[in-house]
Formats: sequence, structure tokens, C-alpha cells
Amino acid sequence: MTEPAQTSVGTGEAPLLDIVNLKKHFPVKKGFLSRGVSKVYAVDGISFHINQGETLGLVGESGCGKSTVGRTVLRLLDPTEGSIKLNGRDITHLNKADMRPVRREMQIIFQDPYSSLNPRMSAGDIVEELLIVHGIGTAPERKQRVAELFERVGLRKAQMNSFPHEFSGGQRQRIGIARALALNPQVIIGDEPVSALDVSIQAQVINLLMDLQAELNLSYLFIAHDLAVVEHISHRIAVMYLGKIVEYTDKKTLFTNPQHPYTEALLSAVPIPDPTIKRKKTILQGDVPSPIQPPSGCHFHTRCPYAEAQCKIDVPVLKAYGPGHMVSCHLR
Ligand code: SF4
Repeated sequence: MTEPAQTSVGTGEAPLLDIVNLKKHFPVKKGFLSRGVSKVYAVDGISFHINQGETLGLVGESGCGKSTVGRTVLRLLDPTEGSIKLNGRDITHLNKADMRPVRREMQIIFQDPYSSLNPRMSAGDIVEELLIVHGIGTAPERKQRVAELFERVGLRKAQMNSFPHEFSGGQRQRIGIARALALNPQVIIGDEPVSALDVSIQAQVINLLMDLQAELNLSYLFIAHDLAVVEHISHRIAVMYLGKIVEYTDKKTLFTNPQHPYTEALLSAVPIPDPTIKRKKTILQGDVPSPIQPPSGCHFHTRCPYAEAQCKIDVPVLKAYGPGHMVSCHLR
């Protein structure tokens, strides 16, 4: 049975990025003839939007499909269903040639800055490569642009000649940010961009991203498995579980009035700086189930402390709980 598309919520402005009912299913092939016998429901009908200059945090445990969302929105993967609009233009089915100019508008920062940087290229060449691929500027103009980008992300111009192994983890992520900025994009997708860094370095990189957003009016889709990481940078947050968004609202509401049991569990792992404030503790049992055969009804029922008989049978719909606050739970 086709489920209703999840409804996008927000401020009513025309969004820069508008995602409607996005699905990405991967066939699982078995046997001599490699016939598709089942599917991985990595992303299963999610909708959200991001306004100009805004950050949407996308949070969930490993295996919930959030990285697949990032790659599908960028069209690095072809969507199974749904639509992706950038500045009102539907880019869902654009071919490779038509996607080329669109790629300038949307860039990605990867989790592991070391493996995402070519170890045989100097840091300056890594950033310049994108400019060459897109035919931008003369050689001296490109060098000048790369030098400006290095300074903008807190690296020295002289470091353009160094190789990735000569940088610290935080500096390598700064190279990744410079590369993402090279083409003056409107949207940057950060796929766990600070997860591999020490906590003190995480804060520096997040502050840099926020400064760049204020200066360049950038929009971010910030993917993380930890609510504490997205708290500072996000305007709104979408919580994802097994391919679906289960709660979606502004940051303040999510942190002060979470309504989905999964959000409650993720929040209970976030430290509170004020020892007088107590938060309800919910410890999640087990891992995220397989997206090949997700649990029936509410996918979360196998781990939910409030699950009732109905939860095993009926799929909850993401519906409005309050202004701009969407929750997918039978109890709400
Ligand atoms: Fe828990 Fe049921 Fe709500 Fe799912 S629908 S989150 S199982 S109470």
C-alpha cells in the first residue's frame, strides 16, 4: 500500500531546497541470475525543505539512512521516487550534462577528511581541481581564489603546497570546507562533517561553518548521529529512524518539548551543562533493525518503551502536533 507523502513544514517562504516524498531503495541481488529478491528501504518517503541561510540538522543512529538522503539530494544516487527542487527547479531527473551547472550550487563535506582528500595532491591542487573541472578562471586567477579560500577557512596561504598527511584532522576538514566553497554554492551538505574530530576541534569547525553561513548566506543540511553536535548549528532538526523522518521541528521545540519516543531517547544522551536540570533517561536497547525487512507497523516498535498492540500493525503518519512541529507516533 502506498503511504501518504510526508508533509514539509516550515515558515512558508519559498524554500531553496524542497524535498518531497523522497525514496531510495536498493535492490538486494542473490543467486546465479542476480535477480533482485528484496530491497533495502534506505530512504522511504521523506519530505523537508531548507530556506536560504538556514541549517536543517538531520539526526539518527548509524544505518537510519541519513547519509543516503544527502547523496540522493545531491543526485550522486538516483532517487527511486519523489522530487528534489532547487530554487524551484525540479532536478530529480536531470541527466548528467544538465546536472553539471546544478552541481556548482550544491556541495558536500564528508565525514572523514583524510580519505576524502587525494593523498598524492597538494592541498591547493585539491581545492583548485574543482575550478578546473568547471572551467573557471585562468591559472593565476584560480591560484588567487584558492589562496583566498585558504585564508577564509583559517589556513595559511603557504599551506597550499602541503599534502593532506601534513595537516591535523581539523585542518584537513578545513581543506574540505575550502573545496566545498570553491564554486560559490548555495547549499552545502555536511555528512557527519565533525564526527571524526576531537570535541574541541568540532566546536572550531562548527563555528567556522556558522561564520561562513552568516557571511555567504549559505544553506546547510547538517547530518549527524548525535543531537549534541547539531544543537548549536541547526535552526530546525529532523530526526530520522529506519528511512523515515519521525519528528521535525525547530531546534528549541525539539530540545524542550520532544514528542517522539526516539527523539526522547536520543536527547537523553545529550549532556546538560546545568546540573539542576534533569532530563528523563531513556536507554535504547539493541541496534537499528535491518532496513531490508523493517519491523511492521511503526518501525520503532521493537525498541520503543511505550509500544502498544496497534504499533505493531499500523504505520504512524507524520502529522502536525503543533505549529511547525510534525511527529509520527500513534500516541501523539
Ligand atoms: Fe512507540 Fe508506538 Fe509511537 Fe511507534 S507509534 S513511537 S512504537 S508509541
